[in-house]
Formats: sequence, C-alpha cells, structure tokens
Amino acid sequence: MNFLFIRRYALKIRPITNQRYYPRQIINKRNYSIISGDRIHGFLVEQTRHIPELELTAIQLRHEATGAEHLHIARDDDNNVFGVGFSTPPMSSSGTPHILEHTTLCGSKKFPVRDPFFKMLNRSLANFMNAFTANDYTIYPFSTTHLLDYENLRDVYMDATFHPYLRELDFKQEGWRLEHQIPHDRTTPLQFKGVVYNEMKGQMSDAGYLYYSRVQQYMYPGTAYGYNSGGEPRNITDLTHQELLDFHKSHYHPSNAKFYTYGNFPLENHLMTINNKIKDFTKLIPDQGIKIVKPFDKPQRIIFQGPIDPMNNSEKQTKMSISFLTNDITDVVETFALRLFAYLLLDGHASPMYKALIDTNIGSDFSENTGYDSSTRISSLSIGLQGMKSQDIPLAEQTIRKVLEDIHRNGFDSKRIEAALHQTELGKKHKTSGFGLSLMHSISSGWFNNCNPADILEINKNIEIIKERIKSEPFFQNLVEKYFLTNLHTLTCIMEPDPRYTDELSREEENRLSSKTSSLSESEKNKIYEQSIELIQKQEAEEDLSVLPSLRVSDISREMKRIPLEHHNFENCPVQWRTTATNGITYFRMISKIDELPDELKIYLPLFTQALTSLGTKAKTMAEIDDDIRLYTGGISASPFVSTNHSDLDQYEEGIVISSHCLDRNINQMYDIMQQLLRETNFDNVEKLRTMIYGNATNMMNSVVESGHAYAKTFAASRIAPAMANSEVYGGMTQVYFMNKLAGAEDFQIVINKLKEISLYLLSNSSLRVAITCGAEAVNQNEVMLKKFLPSFPDVTKSGIHAVERPKFQISHEKAFFPLPFAVNFSAKCFRGTPYTHPDGSKLQVLSSLMKTHYLHREIREKNGAYGGGAVYSPTSGIFSFFSYRDPKTLETLETYKQAIDWVTNRKFSQQEMDEAKLSIFQGIDAPISVAQEGLVYFEGRINDDMRQLRREQLLSVTEDDIKEAAKILEQQERLNWSSVTIIGEGKPEILEDNKWKVYQ
Ligand SMILES: [Zn+2]
Repeated sequence: MNFLFIRRYALKIRPITNQRYYPRQIINKRNYSIISGDRIHGFLVEQTRHIPELELTAIQLRHEATGAEHLHIARDDDNNVFGVGFSTPPMSSSGTPHILEHTTLCGSKKFPVRDPFFKMLNRSLANFMNAFTANDYTIYPFSTTHLLDYENLRDVYMDATFHPYLRELDFKQEGWRLEHQIPHDRTTPLQFKGVVYNEMKGQMSDAGYLYYSRVQQYMYPGTAYGYNSGGEPRNITDLTHQELLDFHKSHYHPSNAKFYTYGNFPLENHLMTINNKIKDFTKLIPDQGIKIVKPFDKPQRIIFQGPIDPMNNSEKQTKMSISFLTNDITDVVETFALRLFAYLLLDGHASPMYKALIDTNIGSDFSENTGYDSSTRISSLSIGLQGMKSQDIPLAEQTIRKVLEDIHRNGFDSKRIEAALHQTELGKKHKTSGFGLSLMHSISSGWFNNCNPADILEINKNIEIIKERIKSEPFFQNLVEKYFLTNLHTLTCIMEPDPRYTDELSREEENRLSSKTSSLSESEKNKIYEQSIELIQKQEAEEDLSVLPSLRVSDISREMKRIPLEHHNFENCPVQWRTTATNGITYFRMISKIDELPDELKIYLPLFTQALTSLGTKAKTMAEIDDDIRLYTGGISASPFVSTNHSDLDQYEEGIVISSHCLDRNINQMYDIMQQLLRETNFDNVEKLRTMIYGNATNMMNSVVESGHAYAKTFAASRIAPAMANSEVYGGMTQVYFMNKLAGAEDFQIVINKLKEISLYLLSNSSLRVAITCGAEAVNQNEVMLKKFLPSFPDVTKSGIHAVERPKFQISHEKAFFPLPFAVNFSAKCFRGTPYTHPDGSKLQVLSSLMKTHYLHREIREKNGAYGGGAVYSPTSGIFSFFSYRDPKTLETLETYKQAIDWVTNRKFSQQEMDEAKLSIFQGIDAPISVAQEGLVYFEGRINDDMRQLRREQLLSVTEDDIKEAAKILEQQERLNWSSVTIIGEGKPEILEDNKWKVYQ
C-alpha cells in the first residue's frame, strides 16, 4: 500500500506521454456493438471512442442510480486490469485518505478476516495488487491474466472498499495508537505506534520527499493540495476513529467512485457485477474539496530547514526551485503542450536547463520537484536544483530566468523538437507487459479532475494540434511569455540542511507525546493497556480463511511457455536471435565479460559504464550525441552485470551489459551511435565527470533511504557468495561510500586514469556476446550492421593482457552495521542456499513464502511496527534472505528471524497453505513479460528452457516434509556460519557497544 509520490527525475529518457503501448491487430470485437445511449446493467453508455494509435476502444459509462463512472478500455491484451477509485481531497494533514486506504483492507462484511488483501496475495496469480493514495484520489488496482482470479479479486476489492469493517483496533494498528514500548510491560514508557505513523515518519526523514511535499503545500495554500494526503506525523495523532468512519461514509460511495476495467474480458460481466454491488446505495452529491488555488498577488519566497545528509558535503546540500502555476488540467491539449515543453526544457544532457545548471555544477542534479506536475487541478512547472551551495542561490535563480528568456527569444532547436516527437512515436510501439496499469496511472489524475479520459488518450490528435500551432505561431515562445515571464503565482522554495532537524523532530514528538499522556486518567491508561493486549491477541489468533476465494495449484499450468531462440556465430561473436512480432522495433543487447579486469579496478566499473553514456567523445559533446540518441533510439544504457552459475554457487560471470532499441528504419544509426560511445568516449572530460560523481553521490544516498533493505541484503549476501561480493562492489553500500568519498575529492585525474585503464581491458572482441530481438524483416539489416560493428572492437588477446588469478572466495559470517541518520532501520540476514538447478532451491523458495505469510508479516509488521518485512529466496543467486523495512525494532526483528526457523519445525502446514505459497511464487514466474525481455534469462544467466521447466516441476511438487527439510538446511547453515547479518540505520547502543558488530563508517 503506497503513498503515491511520483519522482520526476529529468535525466532518464522516457516517452513524453508517460504512456506505453501494447498494440495488436484485433480489438475485442464484441464491444464494437456498444454505442452511446445504450443501457446495460444499470449503466448508461455515454461515449465510445476508438483510438487507433493505441489499438483500443474507450467506453465511458455512468451508473444511473448512483452516478458512479466507469471507463472500460477494450483491448486485445490478456493482462486485464481492474481498479476502483474515489475522489479523496484531504481536509487536513492528519492522513485520513492514507490511513483509510490501509484500514479499508483490514476486513470487510463478506470477507470478515484480518487483512484479506494480504491473504489474497497468496490465493491468486495476479501480477499486480496494490492501493495508492495520491494528492486528491485513492485507487485500488490489480491485474491478472486469469478470469477466475479476476473475478475473485474484484469481489474482494469491491467489498473492501464499499463494506469495510474499519474497526477501532484496525484504525489503531494501521493509523496510530499509544502503546507501551513493550506492550505487556506497563513499566515501559508509552509511545506512538502505527503502520502509517511509522511510514510517514520514515518519509519525513527523506529530504527529497520532504522537499517535494513542502513545495506543493506552499504552492497551493487554502486548497486540498495545501495538506499532505499521506499525513504528517505531528497531525496524524489528532485523527480520531470517528473521523475516519465519517470520511469513509462520505467518500467511499458509488456517487464518488470511478471504476476502471482494461483488457479482453467482456464488459457486460464487469457491469453486471459492479451493478450488483452498488445498486442499493442512494445517490449523494460528493464534496469535491477546494482545488482551485487563489492566485498569488506577488511572487512568494519560502526558506525552511530539512535533514542533513552526514555522508555528503554539508556545504552542498541546499535545495532550491522556482515553481510556476500553469494550466487548469481540464484543458487537455494545453497539458500535453506543457509536458512537451518540460521535456524540451529539462530532459537529458542536451536540454537547455541541464546545460545551464548541471553541466556548470551549480547543483549536482535537478531538485525532486523539477518537471511538469499535472497531479493537481491547476498544474505547475518547477525548475530547481539539489546538491548546491547556499551562496549559489542567486546564481541559480538568475540562470533559470536567463534560460527562460533565451527560449522566449529563440525557441527550441528544431532537432530537439523532432527528437521529442520521435520519442512519442517509439513509445507508442514499444510493448510493455503493464500497459493497462500504466494507462490507468496516466489518466487518473485528469479523470478525477473532470477531464474526459479519452481526450488524454488521443495522443495523435494532440500531437497534430501542437504541430499545427508550431507552424503557425512561435508556439513555445508564447508558452514562456504566458506562464513564466509575467506569472505572479511563482514560488521560490529553499531548503537548507540543518543538523538539528532530526533532533527537533524527536523533540516535537516527545512534547506531543507528553501532552497526550500527561493528562491521562487511570481508567484511560488501563484502556490503552487493555487495547494493546487485545490487538496482540487479535494479531495472533488463528482464523478461518475459507470464506476467501482462492485459485488452486491445478490452475497453474504444468508446462511453461517456451521461447524459441537461435544461435549463430557472427564475426567470432556468439549472437542470439529471437525473431518475433516486435511492431517494427529492434531490441539490442550485448554483454562484454571482464575476466581480465584486475580487482582494484572493479569499484570503478559502474562509473565506467556511466561514463560511456555521459561523457561524450572527442568529436562530439554529449549534448550532441544525446540529440542523436533521442532522434534515432529509445535510449542507450550500460551497466555492470553479475550472474551466478546455474549449477555452482562459486562460479559466476561478470561484465557489462549494453542495451538499446530503435525503430527498424533507424537500425544503422543505432549501431553507429553505440559504436561512437563504446569506442571513442572522451574520459578526459573532467567537468562532466565531476557532475556525474556529484549526482551519483546524492542519488545513491536517496536510494538507500528508499530501499535500505535491498542494500542490507546485498551486503549480507556478499559475505557468503562470491557473485554477491561483486554485486556489492558494483551497487551496494561499498559503492555508495566510495562515491561519497570521490565526491569529496578535489582532483579527478586518478579517476580518469582508472577509467582509461578499464577501457583497455573491456569491450574486447573475444569477450562479447550479443542478443537481438526483432521481426523477421529486420534480421538482414541487423546482420549487415553487426558485420561492421563487431570487428570495430579490438582483440585483446593480441595485446598481451591475460586473465588474472583471483584468490578463492572465503565465506565469512559477519554482523555488519552501517550507521546512518534515519529515524528507523533496515535489516537483513542472509543464508547461503543452492544453485538454480539443485532441487533444494525450490524447497527453500516455498519455505520463504510460507514464513513470510504465516509468521514474519505478523511478527515484523504488525507486532514490531515495521513498514514491511519478510523472507525471500533468490533462485538465481541461491541466497535465502530475511529482511525488514523501516523497522523501529531491528534487534527484536533479528530474534524474530531466529524464531521463524523454530516456528517452521513445529508448525503443521495445510494443503491450502502449501498451495498458496506456490501460487504466490508462480505470480512472478508466470507474470507476462514484454517482447523486449524474451530470451534474456538464457542470454544473461545461461538458464535454458529445460532447466526452467524442471525447476517449475520441482516447485510444484514441494511437500510439507520438504519444508521441514529446508528449515534444517537453514539451521545447518547457521551452525556452519554460512549466514550473515546487516543493519543500516540509527545507531542503537546495544549495537555500538557490542564488539561482535562490525561498524562501517
Ligand atoms: Zn501506506
């Protein structure tokens, strides 16, 4: 369950429309017969529109009795989506919409069990289930290819939203409560607890999130957007259970609801089921909240304090941005135009703002709010920086204004406009598996603000209108004039890092706590104690889940879908071909192994791969190359790559992987651009390198804040498996610390020398292999280009470089601690498992699922109050991991990991539980994949279809006895010290004073 916070980093290439497509030839014919004016199961068809560029038909309906809206997207795609959403503009920052989103999923009339949503995760083959609280709406979507599964989940989702229990204890568990530190022990102090309370405390210690949400609040005072829909910890503790009930009654009502269905399941069935669920409600007029902001009469300027990142240079942690109020998003064409404008202004190395603000190192990256934001009724466009010096604020402001004035005079380079339109065209053809969901996300905000969603989807029409305007007027110049030069509703927001910020948050919490607790009467104290005991009993009670619908293991197909591949040697290089319908796109991927690379250079490898796509060549600047990349390809990426051998955990392969895709008409240009980047990169471009390193240092720390559990897992695994030791160097805490150290350096010549040295070892002709996925008609052209491309790489064997002897990897048990100034912790404990083809791997995987569902979820999330936690087994790396996420009680959680193993030994598992564990695993295995992903499991890991089929059978046949055996494997690994523990986060004295812990600073 997520609080939706969309980061809009401007550095990635992405389709301007934020929409991805999955076109096929035939549209669900049955829906063609539906025309506006038809009445079906209580719904009136208001409009139908065929949108050929997306190969879909949008049918808009209204439920006559209640006014509920329904959008059905008929499309020949079996990954069907259902979503029910409600308009929920907040009226305070107490987090009502967010806490309601959580509590709704804690049990309902027809499904009176604790947490039916989580229970369904294991009774389904859904490839997506979640709930989102956005600025002004809340939506509950899922997707699955299985009809019975769809019907089951739709029933659970609708009952949860329209008939939830919302019991007081649910509110206390998910929202907030007072509870003794140790609930059973009344001598321990009272504390604030609650899932959302802790989740938002975590968010508030994330400088990026804090900045984004504060800017929005200052930009839209007096409106719903002036509040935080996720909840501010200081306000959450004001919310009462009754207020939650009232908010549900007035907002989760059909008259305030929108239903979204997508895919090839028939519409009639959707309508009949929804009508049955909502027909007894009486119509009400929903409160839409205040969404239109009163314009400022003069520009505003706000300065506030935020958390400091102790790992980065404290002189360079200021964030600054200028936000401009832009259009009412009901003007769909204007929204499209501004999105295009933002792309031209901000996206990538060649964009004017990037060149002026980041290439010049005024800041290390754009600020989190940079970009066009249409998630509010009146949109805004923000331009800003993070990682800057306080004294550079005036310079940044002047520069932003100067760039805008420059565009006002000269407009954008025509090649850049052409590149932007090419990205839109390519985006329409590039197939992804989550099309229905991304379509939903792209229209939701507009739809909940009275836009016609079909208008948003008509991309070709919007493009044509804008192309016409560009021809007839200085279009972008006029936009600058209108929104940026004379606009009074402009907000300059500055956030300064303050070392006291975290302490002040704690002090505020202490004061609030004492004001809540000091006046408590004896009977109130008794009630708090009794309720917390009751909550624990409720959490521990075994319950009858048979009311919940479920798929069975027999619904899982025994046979996997095989993907035919061909292999040929081409210019001494192995080439894998996947020839299939790709809608006119070629997908290219290449691996270069690094057997010869000395160990001391490995830490520089991520920087090296990034340099390939960031530094430019001697002949062309990166900005020039970037224009070409956007004009002819869907982007080029390079990254380190590690893959464990499928039959031996001590063997692995490492290298770098390079990938790109393009329209078939641009195949030649794609190979040319790649060749330039890979062969001619200018490692001497020190200014650009500096920018890259500063940006990395900031972004990596943000990513530790967001997914510290993944970093903890990688570090713990790095002590027990050699492949993971390399993954750690390339993308774990080791790399984060290294990048921070580099960012503090003055002289980059050493780095430049290292990168040049790596280039001598890498991308040699004999180390390469290539995979191409394309249509039969594009094979020839790819061959022609490969014949030119492959021989351009040198043959290293002739240059006297030989494979290095690496020392044998030693498994070591370690308790590692990384102190970081977070209010909560992340933890992981990893065990060495078995390679992919070993039958024990399947047993460990099913075990991980059973532990997570029946034990760890309850212990870590519900009892210890962490936002998340569980166990996971990675079949390819052979690592079994326990983990917790935003965990206020990490040390207790480590005990929980131990107890989980004992718990399995004594626990009896029913057939239903075994089946559920397998269903949850097959959700991942059988999730639809995009054509671009086909054949990659073999290409990267050398795991063939026979191995996958065998593993499928092994998984399906895991028995209860196998589970007990798997638990014994973990016990044995623990005894052998083939396990390791890592904690990332706040320093507890129990850790810092215990010399069994190794502290990394
Ligand atoms: Zn949440």
